[in-house]
Amino acid sequence: MSTAGQVIRCKAAVAWESGKPLSIEEVEVAPPQKNEVRIKILFTSLCHTDVYFWDAKGQNPLFPRILGHEAGGIVESVGEGVTDLKPGDHVLPIFTGECKECAHCLSEESNMCDLLRINTDRGEMIHDGKSRFSINGKPIYHFLGTSTFSEYTVVHVGQVAKINPEAPLDKVCVLSCGMSTGFGATVNVAKPKKGQSVAIFGLGAVGLAAAEGARVSGASRIIGVDLNPSRFEQAKKFGVTEFVNPKAHDKPVQEVIVEMTGGGVDRSVECTGSIQAMISAFECVHDGWGVAVLVGVPNKDDAFKTHPVNLLNERTLKGTFFGNYKPRTDIPAVVEKYMNQELELDKFITHSVPFSEINKAFELMLAGEGLRCVIRMDA
Ligand code: NAD
Ligand code: ZN
Repeated sequence: MSTAGQVIRCKAAVAWESGKPLSIEEVEVAPPQKNEVRIKILFTSLCHTDVYFWDAKGQNPLFPRILGHEAGGIVESVGEGVTDLKPGDHVLPIFTGECKECAHCLSEESNMCDLLRINTDRGEMIHDGKSRFSINGKPIYHFLGTSTFSEYTVVHVGQVAKINPEAPLDKVCVLSCGMSTGFGATVNVAKPKKGQSVAIFGLGAVGLAAAEGARVSGASRIIGVDLNPSRFEQAKKFGVTEFVNPKAHDKPVQEVIVEMTGGGVDRSVECTGSIQAMISAFECVHDGWGVAVLVGVPNKDDAFKTHPVNLLNERTLKGTFFGNYKPRTDIPAVVEKYMNQELELDKFITHSVPFSEINKAFELMLAGEGLRCVIRMDA
């Protein structure tokens, strides 16, 4: 029996207040409105951004809220005006969108859509400023327009990538955020040529995805830089060939890398969020052609300081958001790379828990264990 046009009652993990375990509740999910789709979520994974907003330190607390933004699912029904998706389509909801009409979407160079660019403060749908989730009539806020910690969610069509129905959603769900961010930062922005050297600052999930991009690009040396030496063992599986721990040297890490490489690396990708690492990542690239790409999100009051001569000497500094991918146009092709075995994802998925144990995924992340924990909605 079709549920289209009806309110669906299902389970969702609700964050009632900051830092408290999520509680699984029965919620009502309203039908999708104009330019919206309702998705049955099958798998979702936990990313630092969920934990950051659950913890709500340093940003506007917005509760009660349904978190979650890395996920895979199947379209249940579509609202008015939706023509390129239909019930049964396999999709990845994405935290940043692509309206296909604004100046950014029309530019080949940008993925910073004016309408659907990430908005961490918004808790309602754009169409009518209302939430599609409620409990006994009391609204529950959305998160990043995705709210995937729910068996059903409603998402703007511009934030939905339609993918190959053969792709295993329990694996490709991680392409919704972190893996695409790191991988795209290397292949779309740093663009190492075959045989070049690449330094990766920060060997968390995003940095290891950037290393995967370097491996796929045929980099000759992949130098991993991290303050935490326990990251090094795992990073070997991701093609990282050499390691530098800035704490193990009495000179700045950029100088260490310049010496190791006879003048600097060809490319560097910063995935830490540390301003010091951002400066080092820039200053360790070779003059004449080196390119450094910033991915990490800095603290509010950070300022990037380097001598302008470092730029005049023909080094390039870039930054990127979501690996420069346009979610609807580009992500289906990244899924194909996984299907063609060009890109490895399985090694990023270190844990899996049933939905009823979603709080375990939070505990693992807080303990710094593993890379991605996939949450199985039907279990
Ligand atoms: P993570 O915490 O798992 O990994 C960060 C790693 O950086 C850690 O291993 C840590 O030890 C290391 N590190 C910290 N300071 C360092 C320093 N000064 N030098 C060397 N290593 C250092 O984080 P993650 O999930 O991999 O995310 C990495 C960054 O990417 C975060 O800042 C996150 O907010 C950001 N991010 C950006 C985007 C985007 O679109 N630009 C998207 C997602 C995540
Ligand atoms: Zn747009």
